[in-house]
Amino acid sequence: MSTIDQKLLDRSENKCELCGSGDNLDSYKVEPKDEEILVCGVCKEQIEDNSKLDETHMYCLNDSMWSEVDAVKVVAYRLFSIMKNQDMLDMMYLEDDVKQWADDGLPDEPDEDALIYRDSNGVILNAGDTVVIVKDLPVKGAGFVAKQGVAVRNIGLVPGDETHIEGRVNGVKVHLKTCFLKKS
Ligand SMILES: [Zn+2]
Repeated sequence: MSTIDQKLLDRSENKCELCGSGDNLDSYKVEPKDEEILVCGVCKEQIEDNSKLDETHMYCLNDSMWSEVDAVKVVAYRLFSIMKNQDMLDMMYLEDDVKQWADDGLPDEPDEDALIYRDSNGVILNAGDTVVIVKDLPVKGAGFVAKQGVAVRNIGLVPGDETHIEGRVNGVKVHLKTCFLKKS
């Protein structure tokens, strides 16, 4: 039993910051930062041992993902990732540094590692890279052209498809073919 920081209790109003329960409250450190959230016994067990994740209980994340507290959003993001709930991940918006924090705590994806993503020059692309578009590309459904020379920062790899990455162009999340990109 650890002592819980009073500030944490005040912020959370003595409730689990994921599901709102008041049972068996404890703090949970959101690695690698030194920030904590308040969680109940049920949530804590599931966060610490992801094999115990109960998707029904974790419906609570549909509310807590909108928390004002970055550390809570980071935990929600990680849990959605582990549960492969892409719809929810797409709905979440994390600032770049918060996203990085969330990604830093995620287990490596072995099946993603098996695929190798390469740019137009055959250079290997990794999530988080910046790429430059080498050819004007109409973006399907978005009604604009991704212009040659535009940089796309903090790309993501499209799971299961090594010919596409995802990134934001004009503020819109799009999939781009790797053969029209150059790592910068
Ligand atoms: Zn809880």
